[in-house]
Amino acid sequence: MRHFGSLLLGLAVGVPSCLACGGCYGPTSHVEHVRHVKRIQPGAPNATYGPTRALEWGQVNFLHTTDTHGWLEGHLKEGNYGADWGDVVSFTNHLKQQAGNMGVDLLLVDTGDLHDGNGLSDATTPDAELSMKVFERLNYDLLTIGNHELYLAEVAYQTFDGIAKLWGDKYLTSNVQILNPSTNKFEYIGKQYKFFTTQHGLRVMAFGILFDFTAAGCIRRLKVAGNTNVTIVTKAKEMVTQGWFKQALNSTEPVDMFLLLGHNAVRSSMGGTFGIIHDAIRQAHPRTPIQVFGGHTHIRDFAVLDESSTALESGRYCETLGWVSMSGFSKSNSAWTGISPNPRGVPNPTRKATANSTSPFVYSRRYLDWNRATLEFHAVGKQDDKEFDYNSGLTTTAEITKHRSQLNLAEVYGCTPKDYCMTCAPFDSPDNIFPLLSQALAEVVINETRKDIPRYLISNTGGIRFDMHKGPFTYDDFFIVSPFRDALLYIPEVPCSKAATLLDKLNKAGASQKRNIGSMRVERDICVDPIVAPLMARDEPGHGHAFGAVTRRQVVDLVPGYTTSDDFGSDGDDTTHSRIPNYSIPDYFQGAAGFGAEGCTGTADVVFVDFIEKDVLAILGSDYSSSNVTYYISSNYTTQDFLPQFVKQSDMFQAGLPNCTIA
Ligand SMILES: [Zn+2]
Ligand SMILES: [Zn+2]
Repeated sequence: MRHFGSLLLGLAVGVPSCLACGGCYGPTSHVEHVRHVKRIQPGAPNATYGPTRALEWGQVNFLHTTDTHGWLEGHLKEGNYGADWGDVVSFTNHLKQQAGNMGVDLLLVDTGDLHDGNGLSDATTPDAELSMKVFERLNYDLLTIGNHELYLAEVAYQTFDGIAKLWGDKYLTSNVQILNPSTNKFEYIGKQYKFFTTQHGLRVMAFGILFDFTAAGCIRRLKVAGNTNVTIVTKAKEMVTQGWFKQALNSTEPVDMFLLLGHNAVRSSMGGTFGIIHDAIRQAHPRTPIQVFGGHTHIRDFAVLDESSTALESGRYCETLGWVSMSGFSKSNSAWTGISPNPRGVPNPTRKATANSTSPFVYSRRYLDWNRATLEFHAVGKQDDKEFDYNSGLTTTAEITKHRSQLNLAEVYGCTPKDYCMTCAPFDSPDNIFPLLSQALAEVVINETRKDIPRYLISNTGGIRFDMHKGPFTYDDFFIVSPFRDALLYIPEVPCSKAATLLDKLNKAGASQKRNIGSMRVERDICVDPIVAPLMARDEPGHGHAFGAVTRRQVVDLVPGYTTSDDFGSDGDDTTHSRIPNYSIPDYFQGAAGFGAEGCTGTADVVFVDFIEKDVLAILGSDYSSSNVTYYISSNYTTQDFLPQFVKQSDMFQAGLPNCTIA
């Protein structure tokens, strides 16, 4: 991404001048949603319908974000998720005020992964330099670290010197340390734990536990496969034996509730380690409620751990605000001083965690879509834009707009003619993004001195991070779709008998590895974040209503989106959606160029992403070694470069200009 400046200049030539304006796309011809004040980002759509049920407020309430990955501008092409960070700042101010009026506690928590997702985060050096400042505008009560804060030393130190210092004892890293260059000793990046009393008297002990993210456990999905070696991640099993942890649990101070934050799946079946911490706490505190907030697997999920312990996970990429409320605190089981048994005038949590629970605690959970309509709906009495916006929210929105402009993120390079998704359509379908990317690899990745030699170009599906939506393809989208910078290597003139079967063998090798380790999650989901069902609109009834063609209707067609099922059932999604299909995809895809109608007949160059060199050599056999491998174009040409180049030169992407809209 560092050399994008020069690329940008190169590509800007020939782009029609109208397209340089950031606001020239969006539902401009549809005037139903006239904005009275500035909020959400210019061009961002709003949802066409929203929730119908008020939140259930308990004695203690939580609003949870996770895996924001820099998406603080919101989703500029998706109405379901069009709110920006400023809107959420205003929203949380309202909720805090509501909580105060009701005599209940509200805690805002985040569980990490602030990097690697879009241009706001990744177009700066070091990345997240600007997005971190925006992120800090939200007044969190507790936070913890994600694996994306630990791939690169410069980012790990940015976290250590920046966010960890800024949030002080609210930033919890119970099992993550960094080498402090000034002392030459490993120190915890944040605090190991925090013991505090809430506004209404609850004595809370909180920990922040990253999953077992280590270089040894993460083999080869990223060039930097695990945590940078200036950091140490202690595995949960070891952490629970450490003196400081045992001391914290055996402290004589009474604890009314444990809080476990973690960039960590809420289920052990998905690689999570909360179960280990939960069990250790239960040995010392058999009945004290343990409330868990997880992340990393990028899904909405809610798991019951026992009758006094539940765990929430709140999706990814600023698509979801997670809500949990609980009641059951009394003078006999805690130091609670707030309202009992429940706040009045609002729905309250009613569900026991388990069917035969004897615990006094009841719960509710909800997954809120990240859009302005949802936020206004739940900011009770503030549905009018002017009522809703706080100055701090508007300032944050303006700051995002300013940064986007500074970074040229709205610069348009082409017009994506339709939606392409990663998993909502079969892998070989024209609606799937990978046939398009295969075409892009074939058409633009060319070594001029070898352009007449047929070639296979192999890349990994895990490096593609998001769908492409119909509408302007911007500088921002380069980071959104393909944020990683893996160089392209090649082996010249490999006999077709080996070259033509390489892709298949790589994919099968991946499959056998999955079998060996029991689940592919260990590799794909732990070392790189997972691909989950994309949340794009599809050509189904109602699609038109997702983006802009707004008319007032009595009955709305459902927009495709999250349809979550968890331990409490299927009523967790705050807004009802139609289901998006989810097809499995292989680990690798390839472009092929220079072949005649008869296909591979003699030899072909084999081009591949650098971190699979060992696998490629292993499959090709003993005739090949690393001495046969060199850069195909140059060490600077990476997986982040071919898509912009393709968009710029493809008729398909240029034809829709200059009248390119997301509707
Ligand atoms: Zn993530
Ligand atoms: Zn993660």
